[in-house]
Amino acid sequence: MDIAVIGTGYVGLVAGTCLADLGHDVVCADKDEQKIAGLLEGQMPIYEPGLDQLVARNVREGRLQFTADTPSAILGCEVCYIAVGTPMAEDGSASLSGVLAVAKLIGETATAALTVVIKSTVPVGTADKVREILLESGSHAHEVVSNPEFLKEGSAVNDFTSPDRIICGCRLPETEEVMRRLYHPLVRTGKPIHFMDNRSAELSKYAANAFLATKISFINDLANLCERVGADVDAVRRGAGSDSRIGLRFFFPGVGYGGSCFPKDVQALMFTAREYGHPLEILEAVEAVNYRQKQVLGQKVIKRFGEDLTGKHFAIWGLSFKPRTDDMREAPSLVLIEELLQRGATVAAYDPEAMEEAKHTLGDRVAFGDSSDAVLNGADALVLVTEWSEFRNPDLDELKQRMRQRIIFDGRNIYDPELFREIGFELYAIGRPSV
Ligand code: NAD
Repeated sequence: MDIAVIGTGYVGLVAGTCLADLGHDVVCADKDEQKIAGLLEGQMPIYEPGLDQLVARNVREGRLQFTADTPSAILGCEVCYIAVGTPMAEDGSASLSGVLAVAKLIGETATAALTVVIKSTVPVGTADKVREILLESGSHAHEVVSNPEFLKEGSAVNDFTSPDRIICGCRLPETEEVMRRLYHPLVRTGKPIHFMDNRSAELSKYAANAFLATKISFINDLANLCERVGADVDAVRRGAGSDSRIGLRFFFPGVGYGGSCFPKDVQALMFTAREYGHPLEILEAVEAVNYRQKQVLGQKVIKRFGEDLTGKHFAIWGLSFKPRTDDMREAPSLVLIEELLQRGATVAAYDPEAMEEAKHTLGDRVAFGDSSDAVLNGADALVLVTEWSEFRNPDLDELKQRMRQRIIFDGRNIYDPELFREIGFELYAIGRPSV
């Protein structure tokens, strides 16, 4: 099929590339000319494992193109994906200006009826709005599919090509058939394509993200209780999570959720719920707990070193909101670093992929190191914020030699408290007794 993907970010680039890899002819368009110029020269705008090779192969084999001229991508396609951002507006709602602008452009540009697939995460009722705009701005009877994306940054290619399920909200059997043809290679292992109405499809995406955020805030809140009652959250997590109705996956305490999705999607669902007169009280609590959890590491540092951190120097391992991505949006590391800097500390940070992104926010207020070891020099404490694999087994001699004091704050509970106690370190973790 001839496919246009409008919006070449995390989702659009992954979706477009994977669809090209399935044999379709794909044009990815973006209004960001610099991003497209880079892609045309083979430069990836994001770090996502495995994506660069997949892009290169499909470009080489002529199935994948990039353009900053969106109308040219729309002309001649049969299926047009909308994958632009839907950032949080000031009132917490999802901003639809990008989605609706693209819908208008599709209506004005298309010379035949298209299947318009909304990949962006959009509130209930957006497909209806897009339909209206398409009708007003053109003369063709386009069909609109709500096809939210569930990929995770860091494993996006695999998630797109081996999804747990695919959700398609649409109205006509013919449209269902188009979507089935598009996606049947991805569900050969028996994973389902759930067809439903547009509104249910739109809400399904928010329901999934809100539930996952709830699971995180629940275990984080419990971790804080564990510290007060003298329990170890890791044992509690295993004890409760082994019940198959609860599950151990996505049930780890940490420093709060961040990223481009959970914070804004939880807010957007809360906004919709209020708009329809049914506030989701659970989510109010989920958000409040997450806000507090992002401050937990800073609080632990203050408890150990005092309110005034002048003269103290901290090494930070991990900046991105989670491992295997360079995405810094809503990253808990930023909350911690701001707190440390405001209290007069100095900070040296290392992240395997996110330092360029982090520099946009932190500038030269933080020293960025070339390696995890380099930032340890003279540190009064090491703070582990993001659990990249390479931080899991640190060289203990380097830690001992380079750091000024033997103190670690483990924001992800990846270190064995006993091991660190034996070699003379103080270790502060989340929801576990300190050693
Ligand atoms: P992104 O910010 O990485 O990319 C969006 C792209 O759209 C940008 O490159 C931007 O320049 C482009 N764009 C915006 N308006 C445009 C326009 N009018 N014409 C052409 N291009 C335009 O965003 P993302 O992370 O890819 O997210 C896209 C959507 O997918 C969002 O709704 C998001 O919630 C959802 N989503 C994201 C993820 C994720 O992990 N990032 C996962 C699932 C769903």
